[in-house]
Amino acid sequence: MVEKKPFITQAEAQKIISDVPTPFHLYDEKGIRANARRVNAAFGWNTGYKEYFAVKATPNPYLLKILKEEGCGVDCSSYTELMLAEACGFTGEEIMFSSNDTPVEDMQKAFALGAYINLDDLTHVDFLERVAGIPAVVCCRYNPGGTFDLGNGIMDNPGDSKYGMTEDQMAEAYTRLMAKGTKEFGIHAFLASNTVTDAYYPVLSGILFELAVRLHQRTGAKIKFINLSGGVGVAYKPGQRANDIAVIGAGVRKKFEEILVPAGMGDVEIFTEMGRFMLAPYGCLVTTALHEKHIYKEYIGVDACAANLMRPAMYGSYHHITVLGKENAPCDHIYDVTGGLCENNDKFAIDRPLPKIDKGDVLVIHDTGAHGFSMGYNYNGKLRSAEVLLCEDGEHQLIRRAETPADYFATFDFSPYYKKLGL
Ligand SMILES: *Cc1c(COP(=O)(O)O)cnc(C)c1O
Repeated sequence: MVEKKPFITQAEAQKIISDVPTPFHLYDEKGIRANARRVNAAFGWNTGYKEYFAVKATPNPYLLKILKEEGCGVDCSSYTELMLAEACGFTGEEIMFSSNDTPVEDMQKAFALGAYINLDDLTHVDFLERVAGIPAVVCCRYNPGGTFDLGNGIMDNPGDSKYGMTEDQMAEAYTRLMAKGTKEFGIHAFLASNTVTDAYYPVLSGILFELAVRLHQRTGAKIKFINLSGGVGVAYKPGQRANDIAVIGAGVRKKFEEILVPAGMGDVEIFTEMGRFMLAPYGCLVTTALHEKHIYKEYIGVDACAANLMRPAMYGSYHHITVLGKENAPCDHIYDVTGGLCENNDKFAIDRPLPKIDKGDVLVIHDTGAHGFSMGYNYNGKLRSAEVLLCEDGEHQLIRRAETPADYFATFDFSPYYKKLGL
């Protein structure tokens, strides 16, 4: 069971705020490193294991560097993510390129970097050969169709998802790639998102290990790695159970020993591609209460908005909120906590019991370390916030400055209006 406690105190927050005004996303280096070590330990039984952090979750070079120091690679899906990976010093087999609907330049860039290329479709075999070339190792993404069930209910609907290939297409892709010179293969699948159960990876690995044995027997292809992709969730809500990565790693090992080892495939490397599990709990959005409003409901308006954290508006997601300095005060007020977008879904919390909030209070919105800042946008002319790292030694470091109006208007720099903006 998870107790929701911020990783900063009011005093620590005030110190940072005197340097970087709110709103900003704050990341906890100590927590990130400790979690990465738990992940690597959980899969340490597999000698080729590697976590490829999903860059889209938190595309910040300072955070990618921390993960690199902990032995992680990166999973990229676009040209700019590949550029970022390259700038952080990731090369070759430290990069997975899991894209779909892939543009020519993106495929060429991934090939030039020597990344593991994960093909989303059978037609991409010829596409890859035509625009780039045929690598010695190629991964193919699998979609089993139907529904994905963990025994206690449907988790997701692969049959409705645009990703991946059928088993027959996987076999055909391998056969055609072998004829063109590919020597070794990977298998990849992402079948459910934000799973809060230790069963997801083990069940998925059972499916993929059996598929690997069938594909090997059918085509003769040598399977080099199996990438379990992302989807391991975190406990966003208080009292929710948290995934136990050690139990998850042991569950995957059991399937490995039951299925792959007897098939003579005990040398297969296990990869993961987690975003949320790696960073979500180790980031938070720090924001200041600007206004209170009393109409038919009680509102607290803060200086952050959905442009800084889209998940509540987009998915109705729960993000826990702590009012700094009032951690132990009774939650005897019911508030909607809102941003300033001209959209009524711009609410970080609806009907949330919280302590009495006063103007100027600093609120911590929890678990924004993944799919937080990165989903930001500029609607209503709102600017993206800064990102700050709380370093292991307790100091803080600006790792992305806040946007300015000059950033917002930069794409008009060719036009006569740009001058008149007086930037
Ligand atoms: C988004 C994504 C991930 C990471 O997903 P999480 O839910 O953050 O673990 C991994 N792989 C691929 C291909 C993705 O699209």
